[in-house]
Amino acid sequence: MNLQNNIKHLEDADRRHIWHPFTQMQEWEEGTPVVITEGRDSSIRDIYGKWYIDGVSSLWVNTFGHRKKEIDDAIKAQVDRISHSTMLGLSNEPAIRLAEKLVYLFDLSLSRVFYSDNGSTAVEVALKMAFQYWQLMGEKHKVSFLSLNNAYHGDTLGAVSVGGIDIFHKTFGPLLFKTYKAPSPYCYRCEDGRQYPDCGLFCIRRMEEILQRHHQDIAAVIIEPLVQAAGGMIISPAGYLRQVRELCTKYNVLLIADEVATGFGRTGKMFACEHEEVVPDIICLSKGITGGYLPLAATLATEEIYRAFLGEFKDLKTFFHGHSYTGNPLACAAALACLDIFDKEETLKNMAPKAALLENWLGEMESLPHVGNVRVKGLMAGVELVKDRQTKAPYAWEDKMGWKVALHAMDNGVFIRPLGNVIVIMPPLSISSENLQQMLKVIGDAIISATS
Ligand SMILES: *Cc1c(COP(=O)(O)O)cnc(C)c1O
Repeated sequence: MNLQNNIKHLEDADRRHIWHPFTQMQEWEEGTPVVITEGRDSSIRDIYGKWYIDGVSSLWVNTFGHRKKEIDDAIKAQVDRISHSTMLGLSNEPAIRLAEKLVYLFDLSLSRVFYSDNGSTAVEVALKMAFQYWQLMGEKHKVSFLSLNNAYHGDTLGAVSVGGIDIFHKTFGPLLFKTYKAPSPYCYRCEDGRQYPDCGLFCIRRMEEILQRHHQDIAAVIIEPLVQAAGGMIISPAGYLRQVRELCTKYNVLLIADEVATGFGRTGKMFACEHEEVVPDIICLSKGITGGYLPLAATLATEEIYRAFLGEFKDLKTFFHGHSYTGNPLACAAALACLDIFDKEETLKNMAPKAALLENWLGEMESLPHVGNVRVKGLMAGVELVKDRQTKAPYAWEDKMGWKVALHAMDNGVFIRPLGNVIVIMPPLSISSENLQQMLKVIGDAIISATS
């Protein structure tokens, strides 16, 4: 097959046989798929040889760019030893070494690491762990959860049950377990129509009302600390997370922090919880954990939670949960290499000027006639487009405004994927200032062009 035929074949076979996630396939089949063949640093190249700056880190996972030598080498070295072995009844060196490193990142306050292989399973593990913990503690009625409107915790049914994005989650309503829902800390569109800071964090008061009334039935509060990412890069106001932690302690419910998106440097600190010196009882990690190379997740718990599961074999206190690829050695080797890079390259320190650059640019965007709100924490940012700035009226879903911006950016060599009317900007932490500036210029032009 010559090159042109080969390309044609791949495009056709994709349209015929692949069912893409979160994608209206009827539309997809009418278009031409962009087939990626190569990556280098913050850029990816398609089958025609066109390069794109990867503006969303391969959907929020990539940390140090593509083909990072240290990670490549770590995986290759591990392939030469063993690629996979089970954690059920056996252990392996990369998984042990990684667990040790992870718990030290939390100063041992979260001392137990339960591995799985993606963000949704990390959340399932957290929910089941919290539920069984209270069963084992004799608090049999603590069987429910409190989650937030606009929350996203993954696509498996437990994770969807604690989710709060109607457009994704409503269809599955009859399959889900009931949870209590607290308001989203979404100041731009406050559910109570209040203004920050005069509101005195009214959303926290609302959460407290639920806890006051129902804490005896609630096992845990689950939250995306600081940034409700898939909900539209919604940044919670200062002090919100800290107060959620205080409420959980006061009402004797566990706090599950889902740092699947925010973890590993995205917000400017290693974990978002650090911004408000919060220690959760359970934390969910995935996405950036392997630098965006391989599927891996970890759910960390306190020693206190772990100890509740100890007992005689016959007691059946065991946590009966596990996955085939739990603790995969290749993925753990990649994750270990990433943690070394964070140290060696002082990634968190070096991303600060880039976060500042992004913030400046957002300031410029804010004055555009169809930009309603801009939000940023570290290198996670969202630009919310509105039809009418005065009334905050959104573009209709079918206007596809976010998609129009993304298509325009794509034509000009930047890959982004919007969340409805929110333009998401989430480049690899290692992106060069030049690439970042170039990318922001393209996105800015795309916003102006699509909204004018
Ligand atoms: C992406 C995401 C998940 C789900 O992770 P998957 O690996 O896609 O299953 C869970 N929680 C948050 C906060 C996320 O952003």
